[in-house]
Amino acid sequence: MTRILITSAIPYINGVKHLGNLVGSQLPADLYARYARARGHEVLFLCATDEHGTPAEIAATKAGMPVEEYCHQMHRVQAKLAAGFRLSFDHFGRSSSMQNRRLTQHFAGALADNGLMEERSERQVFSIDDDRFLPDRYIEGTCPNCGYDKARGDQCENCTKQLEPTDLIEPRSSLSGSTRLEVRETKHLYLLQSKLKGDLAEWIDSKSDWPILTTSIARKWLNDGDGLQDRGITRDLHWGVPVARGGEPWPGMENKVFYVWFDAPIEYIACAAEWADAQGLDEEHWWRWWRTDEGADDVRYVQFMGKDNVPFHTLSFPATIMGSGEPWKVVDYIKSFNYLTYDGGQFSTSQGRGIFMDQALDLLPPDYWRWWLLSHAPETSDSEFTWDSFQAGVNKDLADVLGNFVSRVTKFCRSKFGEEVPEGGEEITERGRALVAELQERLETYCKHMDAIEVRRAAAELRAMWVAGNEFLQDAAPWSTFKEDPGRAAADIRFALNLIRVYAVISAPFIPDASAKLLEALRTEETKWPTDMEQALLRLPAGQGFVVPDTLFAKIDDDQREEWKVTFAGKRD
Ligand SMILES: [Zn+2]
Repeated sequence: MTRILITSAIPYINGVKHLGNLVGSQLPADLYARYARARGHEVLFLCATDEHGTPAEIAATKAGMPVEEYCHQMHRVQAKLAAGFRLSFDHFGRSSSMQNRRLTQHFAGALADNGLMEERSERQVFSIDDDRFLPDRYIEGTCPNCGYDKARGDQCENCTKQLEPTDLIEPRSSLSGSTRLEVRETKHLYLLQSKLKGDLAEWIDSKSDWPILTTSIARKWLNDGDGLQDRGITRDLHWGVPVARGGEPWPGMENKVFYVWFDAPIEYIACAAEWADAQGLDEEHWWRWWRTDEGADDVRYVQFMGKDNVPFHTLSFPATIMGSGEPWKVVDYIKSFNYLTYDGGQFSTSQGRGIFMDQALDLLPPDYWRWWLLSHAPETSDSEFTWDSFQAGVNKDLADVLGNFVSRVTKFCRSKFGEEVPEGGEEITERGRALVAELQERLETYCKHMDAIEVRRAAAELRAMWVAGNEFLQDAAPWSTFKEDPGRAAADIRFALNLIRVYAVISAPFIPDASAKLLEALRTEETKWPTDMEQALLRLPAGQGFVVPDTLFAKIDDDQREEWKVTFAGKRD
């Protein structure tokens, strides 16, 4: 048994996430967490909402509520959707928690003590009417290059020229539209990441087992151009972790907060503290997951994220941890994903294009989405959601292969032998033995892929095991053998009912609801992960009662598919 700490990239608070976000971090993390638990490992699976920063403030203003209240409400919305997709977090925390505030201030203090913080003065645009400094992208004006009148202070999206806010002609605040802007001097803390470049490079080089997607992005940020840059980690905002040096005030940094990208990853640690606090456990209980001097040396720490988050997890967060000089756990394995595209384009919140988590659950049960998304996870390249592919995945894999097997076996048994596991014939027929051998091999391959977090390969192997059961049933044809050799038909059906139980157990990480439904129909609590297929296929004894489950998966018809295509196509510009 191993202890495995699993974190999913934490979703930003402003709004409901789309299916591409889901399959890029939370869902595969859940798959791995469920699998690891089923294999008997001790798992702590954490996620949270990322709540600080300007976008949250703006979303709250739009919603007409204080930012704290907005975040509280949106956290509940995201927690409910996570539960709807059966994401089995041990704790779903909040980066605005007191635990994270304390830890963020603690890390900043430790980094300063180690000479890794520097105060730097800079000139920034201040909006008098908004009473705040404006981040570059919240300043709008006319592009000096092409004349586009909605260019942003960081870039003109019309001609793509990189800009400074002071380059803009007739600049205005995009928050209020006010033109009463002035450049003021302000001081910020910089984390001297460049001093940690050698340590980080050595650490990345030691990770020969990481996906190339992960290490290539990390190396690019380490070495391209001038290499790893020092990073401003404070902002002149109201909403965030107030700047403090450990528990002490930080002179000159009054009314400033830490930049959201400094405190967000620290929430991975704080979330464990929240988890312990929520259960009234003292701090040793979460230290044993996070502090290598308190037992976390034995922990395997695995992170899941989309490729856009890789630099922060391979460089910035490790820089925070290493720079602290304290015995915190650093990540052992990073599983990163490419993007899921939607029907030939991108998902778009503003255009209502694509399917968002709430809409998905309104249409169909979570297993349908889980199966398609995981079996098409964008691992080695981007992958594309199309309704045709989704319909095919649900109808063929789930309904025709797994669902059909369950339905035929249980209904045939009920009509010929009654609703109990039939007795008679050999323990396992010859045909059954051939299948046991095939399944044993496939199970080992399946586990190998799951251990390596190769999601699509694991899904393909699982599907192959479902297909093998169907082929067995077709060959054994108990409906034909029943008349002249009822013992053999009984033995084959007993074997097939046992196979349903095995399917329920090994499919649970992908489709937990269907799995629970099958185990309930078989009236069994035997959910131990199989290692010896033959033993596993003898678990349900003759005479054990069962019920025929309701249709496991309903097919998606062509009319539904066409209707959904239109509904989710988004507004055309
Ligand atoms: Zn331009």
